[in-house]
Amino acid sequence: MISVAEADRLLSALAFPGGTEFVALEDAVGRVTALPTAADRDGPPYDRVAMDGYAVENDGRRAWTVRGLQCAGRPPLVRADGNTAVEVATGAILPTGCDTVIPYEHTERTGNAVALAEGRPAPKTGANVHRRGTDYRGGDVLLPAGTLLRSVHLHSLASVGVDPVAVVRCPVWALAVTGDELVEVSARPQPWQIRRSNAAAIEGEARAWGLRASAQAVLPDDRAGLTRGLERLLPGLDVLVLTGGVSAGVLDLVPGVLTELGATALFHKIAQRPGKPLWCGRFPDRPEGPGTLVFGLPGNPVSSLFSFRRYVVRWLLAAEGRSVPRRRVPVPGVPAAAPGATVFLPWSPQAGVLDWKGSGDFQALAASTGFVEIDDSGSPEAVYHPWGGG
Ligand code: AMP
Ligand code: MG
Repeated sequence: MISVAEADRLLSALAFPGGTEFVALEDAVGRVTALPTAADRDGPPYDRVAMDGYAVENDGRRAWTVRGLQCAGRPPLVRADGNTAVEVATGAILPTGCDTVIPYEHTERTGNAVALAEGRPAPKTGANVHRRGTDYRGGDVLLPAGTLLRSVHLHSLASVGVDPVAVVRCPVWALAVTGDELVEVSARPQPWQIRRSNAAAIEGEARAWGLRASAQAVLPDDRAGLTRGLERLLPGLDVLVLTGGVSAGVLDLVPGVLTELGATALFHKIAQRPGKPLWCGRFPDRPEGPGTLVFGLPGNPVSSLFSFRRYVVRWLLAAEGRSVPRRRVPVPGVPAAAPGATVFLPWSPQAGVLDWKGSGDFQALAASTGFVEIDDSGSPEAVYHPWGGG
């Protein structure tokens, strides 16, 4: 049995080779850019009309004759000389020979004649024109490599024509749940059966962090079936996450079968509650990189979700150069864990540590926004691990 800190140390020493892959722009949120994104032209790319109204040359006049309509998406009109104005739409290029846009609201119009409304001061030259290149210049780096993409960044990528997007390769991982008592979520269980909730909750937590399993599988509690299932699942995986079958029961076959298949245990059992029997191992290196890393999480719903969030999400994100947020929160009155041990407890900002009845009590998690990690130091503060998407 090892400590939580030792498990962290062993896991963080397992490097992921990374590399670059391409994803469609629409799938890029949550990914990390592998290359800097440079502007292919100025932003805005032309003097952009920023209000609907009239474009003029601001030479002190207050009245103009309207000639022409500059729509968005059309090449620039050329303003006729003299006292002419061009009617303009937001988003259009500023007509040649104009420097200022007067919004409709500041004008009075009769037929083709338009004038500044009574009492309106003269516009400032350049008003309501979004000047070419004032946001960025062609060649400027808009997003450095290593940017964790959010919706706001897609404007920059799309505007400079980047699709697909070069992103940091993330580990290919699959989720497999074991347990002969488990049935489909849509099934009507026998009294001795339960619906398989781990897969849904773990995949849901993963997706909340922008992580998607490449496959989901259900494996039986028998040696031959488990072996066959694992042999089918393992090729091409960087990481395999299993739930169940890692404790001391007669049919807790996962560590044994993985070892028979060639995996070496990194550790089995962490001094933590819940989730003590967590098994972690690795297959021998493959020609294309390190061997598959396997997390055998305990099957109990609370244990598996805490362990997945605490160790697996963290490892998968770190492999992409991302980190998980963690901060310290006060946990008044909560006793320290036994010497050398760690306790995880469901927590919310309103209620603090939530009541729960043990590692099968997933209902106790419903009100939680995450969980706290309480070590043996007796500190009145604990590390808080928020659930994804919160
Ligand atoms: P195990 O770790 O396989 O001994 O499972 C421990 C407990 O967790 C048992 O009561 C299981 O029924 C339950 N359990 C295991 N896997 C799942 C799952 N996928 N969904 C819900 N409960 C599970
Ligand atoms: Mg089981």
